[in-house]
Amino acid sequence: MSDVSERGIRIEQLTKTYGRFKALQRVDLSVPEGEYLTVVGPNGAGKSTLLGVIAGLIRPTRGTVRIDGRDVMRERDETDGRKIGVLSYHTYLYDDLTVRENLTFYGRLYGVSRLQESIALLLEQVGMARRAESPVRTLSRGMKQRASLARALLHDPSVLLLDEPYTGLDQEAMDMLHQFLSVRRRTVFLVTHDLHRGLEVADRIVIMAGGRIVCDTPCQDMSPEAFEQLYRKHTA
Ligand code: ADP
Ligand code: MG
Repeated sequence: MSDVSERGIRIEQLTKTYGRFKALQRVDLSVPEGEYLTVVGPNGAGKSTLLGVIAGLIRPTRGTVRIDGRDVMRERDETDGRKIGVLSYHTYLYDDLTVRENLTFYGRLYGVSRLQESIALLLEQVGMARRAESPVRTLSRGMKQRASLARALLHDPSVLLLDEPYTGLDQEAMDMLHQFLSVRRRTVFLVTHDLHRGLEVADRIVIMAGGRIVCDTPCQDMSPEAFEQLYRKHTA
């Protein structure tokens, strides 16, 4: 049964195997509503797999993920997608549609009200207003990432899942992204290999290695040097 009073993300005993290989091994993790969690770890640690399971895109072998008390695999319904925004290397944009057409498509899918106004505002905010009528295929990687950010935020999700969002973004776009994330308190699950960026905005840091959580700590007063040291100690 779901307990709707329990807000945020709750992961219990999550295991994902590919054949005999364990990408995730009995991961337990809770992210309270409104918390900003950064997950770091070396390549192959299982970060993207964990994010994919939370997003409902990867089926776990064992264990559960609940968002606001609801099991993302077993109790999924049409409202669940509206709670989650995903930004990853995969833009989820259609190359042959314009930026505006893409956002209109997703906005209708999620039942966004006053859609064209919302799209105009977001495009302004991500600095893409002038490219609204451009087919996505004609955009640079950084512009696609900006358009993808607009897509992820369009339905005003309460949980934002970001997988290496800085890839392909220039400094200005990164600053814009951080500004966005700090304005309205959402639950944020950020996966990155960029320790400095990851630390800048996070309330809490999780370090993963070999499919496990090897460190889980609050980080508000942590210096970049202390974080690097902690990271090296746990991933050596
Ligand atoms: P990270 O994002 O931390 O770099 P991933 O979650 O992408 O790591 O991957 C964790 C491990 O699982 C890696 O060793 C990767 O090769 C493996 N893996 C991921 N997806 C698959 C798959 N579909 N089939 C087999 N192995 C996979
Ligand atoms: Mg990854």
